[in-house]
Amino acid sequence: MKTTTSYREELVGVFGFPVDENPTVVMMDAAFQSLGLPWRYLTLKVSPADLAVGIQGIRAMGFRGLNLTIPHKVEVLQYLDEVNADARIMGAVNTIYRDGERLIGANTDGKGFLKALRDDAHMDPAGRKFMILGAGGAARSISVELALAGAAEIEIVNRNETRARELVDLLRRNTKAQVTFREWNSEVSVPENVDGLVNATSIGLYPNIEELPSLNFETIRSGMVVCDVIPNPPRTRFVKEAEARGAITLDGLGMLVYQGAIAFKLWTGADAPVDVMKQALLAEFSG
Ligand code: NDP
Repeated sequence: MKTTTSYREELVGVFGFPVDENPTVVMMDAAFQSLGLPWRYLTLKVSPADLAVGIQGIRAMGFRGLNLTIPHKVEVLQYLDEVNADARIMGAVNTIYRDGERLIGANTDGKGFLKALRDDAHMDPAGRKFMILGAGGAARSISVELALAGAAEIEIVNRNETRARELVDLLRRNTKAQVTFREWNSEVSVPENVDGLVNATSIGLYPNIEELPSLNFETIRSGMVVCDVIPNPPRTRFVKEAEARGAITLDGLGMLVYQGAIAFKLWTGADAPVDVMKQALLAEFSG
């Protein structure tokens, strides 16, 4: 008779509303399988009204961690025992991990972007100038991490001025970067001294794959770094247009995998198999 079998699995997952189309389970399950870990990633539809009891639930069931997506990233802060400094500046948490009984909030989105920038585009953001299209959640996490990593200048380009001003103020209050705002009501050009350009809007996301940000693409210089946050399709029109002008490009799939890999490490303590995770998502998006 076997005496050491455990049928219990370690649980992690994501709360969202809606959440059905969130693909994170695909890369996490591939990672657990690849490392032979008895872990499960659950995609859970939790309404805003149920967030508090949902978090009580993960405490009660001993979840090892959790991702948060729309609309929970901001509201969840009040239910945590601690929030990491960068996530506190952003005012948004996308990952919860445990320290014993304590639930700690982190934000891995911007960190995933930084890892792609450093490892794949070989760029250190310290002392560089960035132009960021958008001022929503993705722009917020990316610009905070860039500024904390020593970026010298950040220009936020956005349609909605109120939203952009909030982000500009937040960056000025909490970081040393020189931050400016440009209103986006017509085609925008990339200034000559910009080292990195980021599309942090939802323009080009599947199924609207023909959409392009209103940008004078002729102002993209050869050798500059151009990044897109859109993970699906991985090679957006924006990425292709930048590549055609000789830019070094980063796609949103890399960022998605890296932010997941950082969460994976926080939960399991193990280095995530990033190639396995990326292949799993590529297969999912092309299927
Ligand atoms: P938000 O809704 O918070 O922000 C969307 C931003 O896009 C706003 O600044 C909005 O401008 C701008 N925008 C949308 N449509 C247009 C348009 N037609 N013209 C000009 N500006 C536009 O979304 P998030 O920041 O949370 O997400 C943005 C994208 O980032 C999503 O597609 C998401 O998939 C992706 N993402 C990718 C991640 C990754 O790991 N790869 C991680 C997180 C997000 P305005 O303020 O004027 O409305």
